[in-house]
Amino acid sequence: MTSSTTTRSEALFERARAVTPGGVNSPVRAFKSVGGVPRFIREAHGAYLTDMDDTRYVDYIGSWGPMILGHDHPTIREAIATALTGGTSFGAPGEREVELAELVTRLTGAGRVRFVNSGTEATMSALRLARGFTGRKFIVKFRGNYHGHADGLLVEAGSGLLTNAEGVLGSAAPSSAGVPEEYASLTLVSEYNDPAALDALMRLRGHEVAAVIFEPVVGNAGVLVPTPDFLEALHRVKASGALLVADEVMTGFRLSLNGATGLLGLEPDLTCWGKIIGGGLPVGAYGGRADVMDFVSPQGPVYQAGTLSGNPLAMAAGLATLQTLEADPGIYGRLEAYTAALASGLRAAADEAGVPVSINRVGSMLTAFHQDVPDGSIRTYADAARSDTTGFATWFQGMLARGVYWAPSQFESIFVSGAHTDRELNVTLEAARSAYGGTPV
Ligand code: PLP
Repeated sequence: MTSSTTTRSEALFERARAVTPGGVNSPVRAFKSVGGVPRFIREAHGAYLTDMDDTRYVDYIGSWGPMILGHDHPTIREAIATALTGGTSFGAPGEREVELAELVTRLTGAGRVRFVNSGTEATMSALRLARGFTGRKFIVKFRGNYHGHADGLLVEAGSGLLTNAEGVLGSAAPSSAGVPEEYASLTLVSEYNDPAALDALMRLRGHEVAAVIFEPVVGNAGVLVPTPDFLEALHRVKASGALLVADEVMTGFRLSLNGATGLLGLEPDLTCWGKIIGGGLPVGAYGGRADVMDFVSPQGPVYQAGTLSGNPLAMAAGLATLQTLEADPGIYGRLEAYTAALASGLRAAADEAGVPVSINRVGSMLTAFHQDVPDGSIRTYADAARSDTTGFATWFQGMLARGVYWAPSQFESIFVSGAHTDRELNVTLEAARSAYGGTPV
């Protein structure tokens, strides 16, 4: 089914390593946790990636989320081509920015929205705004939630967790070199899906907390689904005067037209978007309560700017993507049906081969953890971390060798697109049966 040649990817990887740290422009692409040669991609169409050695893969990365309509979608391509005829960047406002802002505010209920160039910029800016609005310094994040690579967010609990008498007071060490402890000390860490820990932390420190930022459905520890009592605890943080900041960079416009927030009935003060909002071009955004957003410059005192923000090509791709999603509300049902069938097919394949696997899924996001616990029972980062990463890596390579490009890490979600059909499902499940069974390619 697939060529086993990786000659051209290997050669490119070698050239890349000479000129780029680790040979890649974002770490997970290097296949470090699964081993083997990262495939250099020549092109992508629909549900498929084609690498430099002409091997085609059913793609479950979807550029890590943005490609919800599949690659090279004709409507998006045309929108970008049309925008291109008018120039690539103005450094002055344009109509498409207004149109996309109108669409995003209508779909999500945000009072105002500001466009930036990545999810990292969105969360970083939203937290600066929360600090500016509340006049407070501290933020709270959850262990295993990823919000991009701004200094104060590269912090997780881990061994740095300090416990007080109530066993809940989180203050953690940076999870990257180059982040001063002084920055990290302003980030308090709590456990996802632990309402008692969050309540206790807010009781003690809530008066100093500017924002509680969270992934409403986690994708970055593998998929973790919030429990109803945790969602209630999230809403309670508002009573302390802290702003509730939903990081919907991954889930926004993926789990519904109003993201996970809409699905779960959450009412954040601010929301961060990325990925789908740019239709495959570099865009992020943050928005929410008008009284808070009006603190952003030039309206208010919190500075935030961007040379390429509101870029006409990126706005065109985002607009076309959201308009296409809105015009086809049935797409969410189809994504759900495909991913549910994928989950049950994986379940059956793993059972047949006697491989312990635990599946978490919401809509078109799914992680199959290599672990001997029931489906849906992995709820925290610590739970996820007990997975057999060696077993996962072997399975990943088995899938790749059979033409299925799964997420190259145990602790990531896969993303299904509207271009995935029964054909891709069958190919995937056949590959999964062989890969779980350890059948040689
Ligand atoms: N927030 C979440 C939930 C993400 O998943 C990501 C990236 O994967 C980010 C923020 C950062 O976005 P970007 O990579 O566009 O900076």
